[in-house]
Amino acid sequence: MILDLLLETILPRLCVVCEKKGVYPQWFCASCRKDILFVPHPQCERCGYPLSEQLCSVCLTHPKKNTFDFHRSLFLYEGVASDLIARYKFGKKRELALCFGNLFCEYHPYIEGNFILPIPLFKSRLRKRGFNQSLEMARVISKIKKTPLLDGLIKLKSTQPQTELSRQERLHNLRNIFVWKGKSLVGEKIILIDDVLSTGATMAEAARTLKTAGAKQVMAYTVCLNVLTPSPQPLSLRERGG
Ligand SMILES: [Zn+2]
Ligand SMILES: [Zn+2]
Repeated sequence: MILDLLLETILPRLCVVCEKKGVYPQWFCASCRKDILFVPHPQCERCGYPLSEQLCSVCLTHPKKNTFDFHRSLFLYEGVASDLIARYKFGKKRELALCFGNLFCEYHPYIEGNFILPIPLFKSRLRKRGFNQSLEMARVISKIKKTPLLDGLIKLKSTQPQTELSRQERLHNLRNIFVWKGKSLVGEKIILIDDVLSTGATMAEAARTLKTAGAKQVMAYTVCLNVLTPSPQPLSLRERGG
């Protein structure tokens, strides 16, 4: 705490959006805070998609056996938040990992698991970008939550955004893009970290790979949720059959 205050005097924290000085302990100044859109409630119990109180239609029709058990994002992927992601990934503003990692832990204090795992980049992409944006955030969360980072998830090929495809086509395209080369995951609860969740197909395939390797539970967290149209429709209790 004393060290924090000392650091703050020497290097005042800047708003991560407009770089206005002295916003500590916040990450945004009051004006930028108003412009950033947190994912609204209510959300699907499982995937965190807004608009649904219980389960969205996707979660309802896809049993969690072969995918992640839970997902939450901090922000909607638009405006200020999508600019921040672009600055982080393509502007090489690696220090934003500190902001995102801290916000994850502040807004989702119940994050809990045996290991933290970032979604990997394909090796040529990693060479080009110079860093894995998910790994940097995972490091911060690992430190705050005192939960070890785990290595071993490998991405076998490069993938392009595929939002125009159907869910079935996306899942088919991404089938086996990951392989698990790490230690046994039998019975483990894994926390998966990525920057943006759009169709959810990449996260689902990573989770499927971990579950095939024995993981008992996969909890996913992303900075931004890209709300796509047509959106999953909330279903009433009656339609869920109870
Ligand atoms: Zn600002
Ligand atoms: Zn859902």
